[in-house]
Amino acid sequence: MVVATPAQNQANQVRVQFGCGIRSDLRAEVARLGARRALVLSTPEQCALALEASEALGPFAAAVYTKATMHTPVEVTLDALEHLRACEADCLVAIGGGSTVGLGKALAYCTDLPQITVPTTYAGSEATPILGQTEDGLKTTLSDPKVLPEVILYDPELVATLPVSMTVTSGLNAMAHAGEALYAANRTSATTQLAIEGLQSLVRGLPDVMAAPHDLVARELTQRGAWACGTVLGQVGMALHHKLCHTLGGSFDLPHADTHAIILPHAIAYNARAAAQELAPITDILGGETAGFALYDFARGLGAPLALRDLGGSAADLERAADLATQKPYPNPQPIARDEIHALLQAAWAGDAPVF
Ligand code: NAD
Repeated sequence: MVVATPAQNQANQVRVQFGCGIRSDLRAEVARLGARRALVLSTPEQCALALEASEALGPFAAAVYTKATMHTPVEVTLDALEHLRACEADCLVAIGGGSTVGLGKALAYCTDLPQITVPTTYAGSEATPILGQTEDGLKTTLSDPKVLPEVILYDPELVATLPVSMTVTSGLNAMAHAGEALYAANRTSATTQLAIEGLQSLVRGLPDVMAAPHDLVARELTQRGAWACGTVLGQVGMALHHKLCHTLGGSFDLPHADTHAIILPHAIAYNARAAAQELAPITDILGGETAGFALYDFARGLGAPLALRDLGGSAADLERAADLATQKPYPNPQPIARDEIHALLQAAWAGDAPVF
């Protein structure tokens, strides 16, 4: 008897396709779902892409909504819901990064409509049943199977337009999911394997993409890594790293991918004191003596932002961020000590190497 692992179970529910130009299959994918009227979603910046998708859908396009916003503000979802009802859409096509995917998930949560996602970053949200939403400056998350998209179309041509700076931060954002999956309290051998595969793909693919941003083979490798990292994110509990980024993003409005890129080496170094063995795959893949320093060097080598202060927040926010991130207990390998978290944030603020 073959027993499906949690990783396989979730992966099997979702139709995942990779390939250059695969976005032109959108019409067939909508028909496959038994739907006829797709609402196409994007951010304002990716409006042209949404219109291209709408054209590819032909008579299966019901309308285009281009106001997706980072951290999924509830007021945008309510506005989109009105459009969805007015155009009588029977499915959702989200084409963009995590912000657009987030809007699609929020609409699916309200309506239970099927979703096709066409990711254009490495954030990985398309592979998780998790929805993060922001209301009155507070970000909350929920997990519900109806939020998980039915179809994911990974088209390397779409990430090839991702600016180099965002390629790096978004890739590190994906690696953060896999990094924390390595020590998750509810990890399995299958999730650990998937996390390692995700890290390997991104560590191999990102330098090649940086050298040649239009190298579609390398782009597909990074997308495969993002899918693996996103899938484990949906299957195991995250800890300190995601808690800090969630706090900094939701309460201080710092950009998602940059924040992940900066915090990752620090959070991993903090936890390596209690989970050195679990984190050994990181040094196996990247080299170096400790996982935190290996990630710091990798990020620096790729030209990633290193300092929170460059993202536009204020130093005074660090005290409040440390308070917010340590208010409620959550599972984490290394005990959470408020003063140590403040020291971690200060190092990340200044762009210094990890202090633990
Ligand atoms: P994003 O979707 O906000 O994109 C950032 C900017 O880049 C936008 O202006 C977007 O239009 C543009 N962009 C995206 N792809 C592009 C491309 N290929 N070429 C040119 N421009 C492009 O950023 P993100 O980091 O992908 O997503 C962040 C959001 O995703 C956050 O709200 C975060 O909370 C959420 N997220 C959720 C999960 C989850 O499982 N729920 C996981 C990861 C991220």
